[in-house]
Amino acid sequence: MMTEIESIAGETPGIAYQLIVHRFAGSGGERAPRVYIQAGLHADERPGVAALHYLIPMLKQAEAEGRLLGSLTLVPHANPIGAAQHLYGEHMGRFATGTRTNFNRDFPVPDENGVRVLDSASSAVFAERRLKSRLLELADGCPIVLDLHCDDEGVQYVYAPEQLWPEMSDLAACLDAEAALLWDSGSDRAFEEAIFEEMKARAPGGDLSGHCVTTVELRGQNDVTAALGRKDAEGLFRFLQGRGVVAKDDTPAPALRDDFTGKPIRHVNMVLAPVGGTILFHVAPGARVKAGQLLAEIITDPGRDDGTVAVLAPQSGYVLTRRIRRFIRMGDNLIKIIGDAPVAARKGALED
Ligand SMILES: [Zn+2]
Repeated sequence: MMTEIESIAGETPGIAYQLIVHRFAGSGGERAPRVYIQAGLHADERPGVAALHYLIPMLKQAEAEGRLLGSLTLVPHANPIGAAQHLYGEHMGRFATGTRTNFNRDFPVPDENGVRVLDSASSAVFAERRLKSRLLELADGCPIVLDLHCDDEGVQYVYAPEQLWPEMSDLAACLDAEAALLWDSGSDRAFEEAIFEEMKARAPGGDLSGHCVTTVELRGQNDVTAALGRKDAEGLFRFLQGRGVVAKDDTPAPALRDDFTGKPIRHVNMVLAPVGGTILFHVAPGARVKAGQLLAEIITDPGRDDGTVAVLAPQSGYVLTRRIRRFIRMGDNLIKIIGDAPVAARKGALED
């Protein structure tokens, strides 16, 4: 494994960020797939960092034993800018505080002629834009691109372009994921979308077989343990074996879970808080709910008989995620359900 530390200049004198890039050169030549994996693009999401912590030694061992066929580029701390943002003791890793931009939105995508314009290391733009361009460059030419994230509190699930499903279900099976959300339209230029648009522009004859691009949601923000990190690393390793990046062994390829829920993103029902207050959840991620079932109460006036507002399931479905903090404003995202039926008038694929 080769490691390079790249420097990203800050916007003011005396400030620079380090981007650590690990590279493995596989022995399989041109036919073995190239892989890019990053974690921590939302810098407050750490399960992917833990997974790479365990995956990297597994890959080193495979390399030492001659079992590594494909080449890999790994960026375990994809967002040193967001990692450094603390405000009054609280970490703020999702939005760039200097520009109010979500770190996983506004990536450069190809225009209608298939031309993508990236910023260079010396472009006179904010550091966050130069970082985004660099991450895309590092992933260029890789048919397999994994962006490791997590949700507030949630089950493990993957986003996948509908065009690459069910071929990509091998990833969900290897990770033992509970669900998949399949998208076919824009997502405000998230990293995954920018990569997929570039993949499509480059694919000869539009052939995307063998390609895999995804945002992997490794459960919730606090699901960071040695056991989960190892499990996720082993799942990623099995996936890489299945795709011919690492030599296969005798272990049979895993199947999707019996209770796996894979649905187009138009089935996502984001339940908003009808009032502000203190949340008492009555369901957890992974639960199946019926229309009208009590999801949560929100305490608005503690101690009074009419001091809570009930939030009911708008339709039957599967609870994917819920808010991690227990205080909420009216209109904030409370709970995310994959509805059994598509949701009418849905706007956008992702939350802010
Ligand atoms: Zn994220």
